Amino acid sequence: MRKLPYRRSNWIRLFYAGRGIFLAAVLCANYALGWGPEGHRIVAMIAAAHLSPAAQNGVTTLLQSDPAVQALRRTRSRAGTTALAQSMAAVANWADAVKAQTGTQEWHFIDLASSDQKADLAARCPLGECVTGKVKSMAPNLKPGTSLPHDPNPFTPTEELKFIIHLVGDLHQPLHCATNADAGGNCLRTAGFGASELHAVWDGGIIRKVLLKNTNEANLAQTLDTQFSGKFDDIIQMSDVDDMALASHELAFQAAYGPMLDKHLLPGQEPRPFLKLIPNECAAKAPDFFNINPHPKLTKLYNKTTFDVVSQQLATGGYRLAELLNTAFK
Ligand SMILES: [Zn+2]
Repeated sequence: MRKLPYRRSNWIRLFYAGRGIFLAAVLCANYALGWGPEGHRIVAMIAAAHLSPAAQNGVTTLLQSDPAVQALRRTRSRAGTTALAQSMAAVANWADAVKAQTGTQEWHFIDLASSDQKADLAARCPLGECVTGKVKSMAPNLKPGTSLPHDPNPFTPTEELKFIIHLVGDLHQPLHCATNADAGGNCLRTAGFGASELHAVWDGGIIRKVLLKNTNEANLAQTLDTQFSGKFDDIIQMSDVDDMALASHELAFQAAYGPMLDKHLLPGQEPRPFLKLIPNECAAKAPDFFNINPHPKLTKLYNKTTFDVVSQQLATGGYRLAELLNTAFK
């Protein structure tokens, strides 16, 4: 049997030592693929606060004629956010809105099995058609005056910026860089956090049920920025997009699947070998996860550690997006 790298790091053991149980259980079906809209807007707002003057100028110029940004100008501005943060948040979910019509669904994630290592990433991203491939290919095109030689898809520089703002967020949603032969948790039916499967819990369930409790998106972005600003320099040290994906992948198996694996709540009990499938193949290709009974109760399994991981990934995504844009517009 292959040696599987599922493990607990020391810091996560530390986190798990102090646990609090959050109760929430409302079910709804949702096969979203990405941080939910809230998460993407929060990442964008955190990034906006860390852009260099050159990047602020470059982003503002590229977005100024965007319909979503123009619509924003016609409405009253929200207190507590800058115009730039509002503009970036306004376009942060465009890539999800157009993925079906543009055939770019594969750009939002990379499926990595538990046992996958850095050397496996190329095989998991055929032709660069995955989140790591697209962030790498699009980032250099944001420089003013750069042509767009990369793709047959005729995306404009403004659209590429909107993809970057979105995809760097996706890269930091752990289940966008991991799969347990279950389409990144889309096939694994769970209970709690207002969602009926694991992926949706991480896309938005935890954010909506825990992190946005008693606050709004702009306040949460500011709170997370304050909480993590001391780690900013460390966080942006990681500039390799593949390393970012591997870090998300590790968090997925520790924090998303880990509590269920630890308690032997999943059929098979061990992380599974690589299997590529899409959400509408769940019933056929992952029937044991899709028909799992009872559904693992995530409200009993997840705790402050889990919510801290989500908070950390929102801030980390924002900081690395800022650094990527600062580099692109230098
Ligand atoms: Zn997405």
